[in-house]
Amino acid sequence: MTIDRDNERWLLLWDIDGTLLLGASIEHARVMFAVLQEVHGTDDPAGGQPIRLRRAAERSGMTDGQIGREILLDNGVDPMQIDARFAEVVRRASEDYDPGDLTAHVNPGVTAVLAELAARDDVVQSLVTGNFERIARTKLRAAAIDGWFDAALGGGFGSDHEQRQFLPEIARQRAGAALRADESAWPRERTIIIGDTPRDIACARHDGVRVVAIATGPHPPENLSEADAVATDAESLRDALLAIVGLPPRPGSPG
Ligand SMILES: [Mg+2]
Repeated sequence: MTIDRDNERWLLLWDIDGTLLLGASIEHARVMFAVLQEVHGTDDPAGGQPIRLRRAAERSGMTDGQIGREILLDNGVDPMQIDARFAEVVRRASEDYDPGDLTAHVNPGVTAVLAELAARDDVVQSLVTGNFERIARTKLRAAAIDGWFDAALGGGFGSDHEQRQFLPEIARQRAGAALRADESAWPRERTIIIGDTPRDIACARHDGVRVVAIATGPHPPENLSEADAVATDAESLRDALLAIVGLPPRPGSPG
């Protein structure tokens, strides 16, 4: 069948940490450190948390696997062993992660933006995050915003690839397979990444899709100027997204 591009919906691919949720990674980081220690037998891969956490800002936007690799390499672990035990790290971290109630960590105003976009019939919403998938879904559930993200649409996760740059294409392929008649990848020109770091912008550029940045993570707006638009809060994010996807079509209007 032919696809009418004018009627193609928009695919919005949301980052989690620093974008949908703020300050919601403490238990995530603790579990990751503990699992790296258990799986690789390293002596305290956290190396003393205060030292490691100082690097949180420069690690923002890295995938879970990438952060894990960096920590392990710092601790002298053989890269072949890191590769060989990657799946076990994903499995154990996913099983052990239990963050408790994260509802207080939702980025203020973002739930209303998700709701407004979800009410449109020309927008679908999914995820591109460095979190392992099960951690991502647990985190969203703990924050009570998982209902906006249909797992059947897939998404792109740190458990899919260690390099974030490959995640948007994975998410487009999955969304296309789930929703498009010919199951082809979602069109780049109808896809928007939403994230809080230069790495979110870089992954969008790598895939050739639009990106709207929000400066609610560790990066100020001036670090995010390569994005197509930069928001400073949920309200300006909404405005930036509507400027791209357009005002909602009025019910009953032609086309
Ligand atoms: Mg982020």
